[in-house]
Amino acid sequence: MSNAKIELLIIEDELEIAELIEFHAERSGMRARKIHSGRLALELIRREKPDIIVLDLMLPDLDGLEVCRRLKQDEATRTIPIVMVTAKGEEADVVAGIELGADDYVTKPFSPRVLMARLRNVLRRGGVVEEAAPSGDRIMLLDGRLIIDLDRHEVLCDGKKIELTLTEFGILHYLATRPGFVRTRDQIIGAVHGKSTVLSSRTVDVHVTALRRKLGEFADSVETVRGVGYRFADARASVEL
Ligand code: CA
Repeated sequence: MSNAKIELLIIEDELEIAELIEFHAERSGMRARKIHSGRLALELIRREKPDIIVLDLMLPDLDGLEVCRRLKQDEATRTIPIVMVTAKGEEADVVAGIELGADDYVTKPFSPRVLMARLRNVLRRGGVVEEAAPSGDRIMLLDGRLIIDLDRHEVLCDGKKIELTLTEFGILHYLATRPGFVRTRDQIIGAVHGKSTVLSSRTVDVHVTALRRKLGEFADSVETVRGVGYRFADARASVEL
């Protein structure tokens, strides 16, 4: 994708918003196309495989979450990144969308520059994640200052070992595997303890608080995403505003 233009598909029924996104996307060098219907979008995506999708959740025919679900169920389209556009107060939908596999979201009214930064981050993260996929036994974070050693089940902060419980280690590992990606509490519970767990949303918060305390000056790298969950802050993917 180095020379070819990034192809963005905008699924949004409000014309002014779609045009605003299109304008900014093209100005930042993408090729943008807009479509107002979820149903038509599904056909178009299967046919043309855009590089990335902006998906409004409130669509007249097929709602955005359903579009997201179908794209993620389909082998041919599941890897295409999706950034959702949501209305204020739709936190439950954001959570549902992320659990379905959407990569990020913005809330209306949003700044087009923020949306463009999110799109670039998601695209860049796609590459970063592939490079940094834990093929080895160590995950290097924050320029190597924070290291998760999977073989030894150890975490090193500036070369110094810190003592984590199994749950804290599991949470940090899960978030750090995909820096910058928001994870809901339910996803964290699923990843850390499997399905038959007694871990609740509230206890996730308690474990995160303890984890942050132990991370000391790196505490801020485990970020709270209000109403949604947590993510590991990725300095390389910082949003330029
Ligand atoms: Ca709409």
